[in-house]
Amino acid sequence: AATTAPTGTSDPTARLVVDNPAPVLRLDGVRKSFGSTQVLRGISFEVARHEVVALLGPSGSGKSTLMKCVNLLERVDDGQIWLGDTDITDPRENQDRIRARIGVVFQQFNLFPHMTVLRNVTLAAIKVHHWQRDRAEARALELLDRIGMRAKANAYPDQLSGGQQQRVAIARALMTDPELLLLDEITSALDPMLVGEVLNMVTELKAQGTTILMATHEMSFAHEAADRIVLMRGGVIAENGTPQQVMDESDDPATREFFAHFR
Ligand code: ADP
Ligand code: MG
Repeated sequence: AATTAPTGTSDPTARLVVDNPAPVLRLDGVRKSFGSTQVLRGISFEVARHEVVALLGPSGSGKSTLMKCVNLLERVDDGQIWLGDTDITDPRENQDRIRARIGVVFQQFNLFPHMTVLRNVTLAAIKVHHWQRDRAEARALELLDRIGMRAKANAYPDQLSGGQQQRVAIARALMTDPELLLLDEITSALDPMLVGEVLNMVTELKAQGTTILMATHEMSFAHEAADRIVLMRGGVIAENGTPQQVMDESDDPATREFFAHFR
C-alpha cells in the first residue's frame, strides 16, 4: 500500500514510500492474557527500518510474551502486528514464511548440543525453509567467517564458550537475511566476562543497518546503543523515547525508580 500514490493525488509520481516508509514492525493494541492474567494490555509501538529498539521493564512485565507474539510462538488475543505490509496476526498468512523474515535469539538453549555448529546454523534453513544443503552451508560459513567462528564450524556447542554459542545463535538467526532481529535477553545467562563480546556483535549488526528489537537488562548498553527505549510496566508501555528522554529525563516517579535500581 505504501508504494502506491495516495488516492486523490493529481501527481501520480507523488509516492508515499519516499517520505513515509512502512515501519519494519508495528504493534497496534496488542492484548494477551494467560488465564486471568492480563500480560499485554494494549501494546502499540513501531520499529523503523535500521532502528535498534531496547525493550525494557521489570521481570514479568511481558517482554518475552510480546516477542513470542511477534514470532508467532503465541497468538495475540486482540490487536494487530504488522511486519512490513503483512498483518502477521492474520491466520491466513503462512507462518513459516513469516518466521523466515524474523530472526530470533533467546536467553539460552539456543543450540542443539548433539549437532555441530554448522549443522545448528543450517538446520532451520534446510528443514523449515527448504534451502538446498550447499546453499545453506555456503551462507552459514560466510556468516561464521564474518564473526571469526569459521574454524569452529565442526565443533560442538559444549566446546564453545557461552559467548561464542550466543554469537553462533545470532549467526543462525541471520541465515535467511531477516527484516527484523528479535533478541530476548541474550546475555542474561552469560558470565559477566562474556557479555561484552555478544553486545559488541549487536553493535556491529547495528552499524550494518540491521533492524533490532532487543529485551535487555544491560542498561548502559541500551543507553549507548539503542535508538529508542520502550519501557513496559503493568502490561502497557510506560515510556517510548530516546535513551536520554526515557532514562535520564523522565519525570515519571515509577520510571525514575526503575532506572535507579540499575545505578
Ligand atoms: P518478561 O519477559 O518481561 O520477564 P514474560 O513475558 O516472561 O515477562 O512474563 C509475563 C507474565 O506472563 C508473567 O507473569 C508470567 O508468569 C506470565 N506468563 C508468561 N508465559 C506464560 C504461559 N505460557 N502461561 C502462563 N503464564 C505465562
Ligand atoms: Mg523475558
